[in-house]
Amino acid sequence: RAKHRGRNTWCFFEQRMTERLRERSSLQRELAHATKRGQFELAFQPRVHASDGALSGYEALLRWRHPLHGNVPPDVFISLAEESGLIVSIGEWVLREACAQAARWRAAGAADLTMAVNVSPHQLRHAGFAACVQQVLLETGWPARQLELEITETALMEDPREVAVLLHRINALGVRFAIDDFGTGYSSLAYLKTFPLHRLKVDRSFVQGLQVEGSDRVIAASIIALAHALGLEVTAEGVETADQRDFLREQRCDELQGYLFSAPISAAQCEAWLTQKGIPCRQSLTPHCLQA
Ligand code: C2E
Ligand code: MG
Ligand code: MG
Ligand code: MG
Repeated sequence: RAKHRGRNTWCFFEQRMTERLRERSSLQRELAHATKRGQFELAFQPRVHASDGALSGYEALLRWRHPLHGNVPPDVFISLAEESGLIVSIGEWVLREACAQAARWRAAGAADLTMAVNVSPHQLRHAGFAACVQQVLLETGWPARQLELEITETALMEDPREVAVLLHRINALGVRFAIDDFGTGYSSLAYLKTFPLHRLKVDRSFVQGLQVEGSDRVIAASIIALAHALGLEVTAEGVETADQRDFLREQRCDELQGYLFSAPISAAQCEAWLTQKGIPCRQSLTPHCLQA
C-alpha cells in the first residue's frame, strides 16, 4: 500500500520501522529487570461452569506495568521474552505467584478452584521445567490437581514425543493440561491422544464468529464434540454475548470464559468478593460479573 503513495511514504515507513525496532530492543533490555523492579503483576480472569454460571477457577494473565509506556500488551512482551529466553524465569515467577495467590484464597475459604497458568514452548524445552513445577507446588502448598497448565498446539507439536514424555512426568504429580487457542494451530489428532490432556480451549476467534459465520458454529460444535469423544472437557474463550453463551451451552460446552462474565481482574478485586461472599465455589460470581 505504501508503495502507491510514493517515496516519502516509504521513508516515513522505514523510519517508523527503525524506531519500532529500537523500541523493541530497549523494551527487551528492560524486560530483563522487570521482575526485580516489581513491574509484573498478575490479572485473573474468572472461568465459569456453563451449566449454572458458578465460578470454576481463574486463568492467570501476566501484566507488565512499564513506568514510561504504561501497560505493555502481553502479545508484545511475551514474544520479546520468548526471543530472549527470559520467558523461562518470567514463567517461573508467574507460576509461583499464581499458585501462591490461589493458596492464599484457599486458606481464606475458596476450596475447589482451579488455577490455570499459560506455559510457553520455551519453558517446555527448558530442562528444569518439571522440577520447577514440583518445587512451586511444594513451596506454595497449592494442590497439583487444581493446577492447569495451558499449552498451545504449536508447542505440543514441536517435538511431540519429547513433549509427551515431559507432560506425563508432570501429570504424574497430578497437574492437568489444557490446549489453548485450539483450532488455530496445527495439531495431529493421532498425537492428541498420546498427551495426558484434560481440556481443550476453543479459540476466541471461533466464539466471536458464532453469530455471523455458519462455519464458526460448525467448528465450535465440532471441537466440543471432539473433546467429549476423547473424554476431555471444553472451555470456550472470549465469550462476549448472551447469544454466544446460549449457543455454547446448547452444545454442552463445559466452561465459559470472557468479558460477558468478567474481564481479567486484579488479585485485590478477586479478594474483595471472596471475603464478601465467604466460600464462592458453586455460588454466583459478583453481580457485575455474571448478570452481564
Ligand atoms: P490466552 O492465554 O489465550 O488468554 C486469553 C486472552 O484473551 C487474554 O488476553 C484475555 O484478556 C483475552 N480475553 C479474555 N476474554 C476476552 C473476551 O471476551 N474478548 C476479548 N476480545 N478478549 C478476551 P491477554 O491477557 O492480553 O493475553 C494475551 C496472550 O498472552 C494470552 O492468550 C497468552 O497467550 C499470553 N500470555 C498472557 N499471560 C501469559 C503468561 O503468564 N505466560 C505466557 N507464556 N503467556 C501469557
Ligand atoms: Mg490461556
Ligand atoms: Mg487462548
Ligand atoms: Mg492466545
